[in-house]
Amino acid sequence: MIIETLSVFPEVFEGYMSASIMGRAQRFGHLSFCAHDLRDWTHDRHRTVDDEPYGGGAGMLMKAPPIYEAVTSIAAAVPEVKPHVIFFTPTGAPFTQRTAERLAREERLLLVCGRYEGMDERAYALADERISIGDFVLTGGELAAMVVADAVCRLIPGVLGDDMSSKDESFSGGEGGGLLEYAQYTRPAVFEGAAVPEVLLSGDHARVAAWRRRDALERTCRWRPDLIESAELTEEECALARQLVERYREGGA
Ligand code: SAM
Repeated sequence: MIIETLSVFPEVFEGYMSASIMGRAQRFGHLSFCAHDLRDWTHDRHRTVDDEPYGGGAGMLMKAPPIYEAVTSIAAAVPEVKPHVIFFTPTGAPFTQRTAERLAREERLLLVCGRYEGMDERAYALADERISIGDFVLTGGELAAMVVADAVCRLIPGVLGDDMSSKDESFSGGEGGGLLEYAQYTRPAVFEGAAVPEVLLSGDHARVAAWRRRDALERTCRWRPDLIESAELTEEECALARQLVERYREGGA
């Protein structure tokens, strides 16, 4: 997969995108990453990318022409693969694991990051979609782009080494069924008086799987009951979930 970003601070991607799993994904050829500098598509001495908003108001807005020129020229640089273009804005659709799963099936992503007070509305005509990473306001879209690049990259087959390891994680539409992940433990078996559940030491894979499924269901009912409606549950699990949600709502432990 190709992931490219367009922003006025391309240098901020360097450390994060070359470390750990994303660095390895690039070294092994699963991911090609490039951070473009929007100022490369300006034509004045000061390499201006912003201007005052029409109608007044605080702050500056990113101008549409450099963004338009940059996106069209980046797209044309690899003409055989049209990029899926994402603009980051707090007004976009909320980013979820489902979005990451869908984007991981794209061949090429172009992530366009805003700064200042945002962008001239006409720039969004280039967007295949607008994404928000949450109901808060960041100073720029670079962190949002890294969040999306990270969440997508680890879903590319081969990136995590063991292809199964992203399938039963929290929110995952695979074996996790859209639930939160179950509790996990590593050595020591007893820490500060708290013992690892006996079943996890039993070596009985069927019992371990059943315990994990039940724990995932309990944790989701307790901490994220909003996820239960869209989770993939058996009839028996649905009935249990109803009881658990009710119990936790009433303040049960
Ligand atoms: N004035 C804008 C508003 O109220 O919606 C906020 C602009 S914000 C200061 C500057 C840039 O940061 C945005 O253009 C966007 O690219 C990025 N940004 C800020 N918060 C974001 C969020 N929650 N999700 C995605 N991008 C965000």
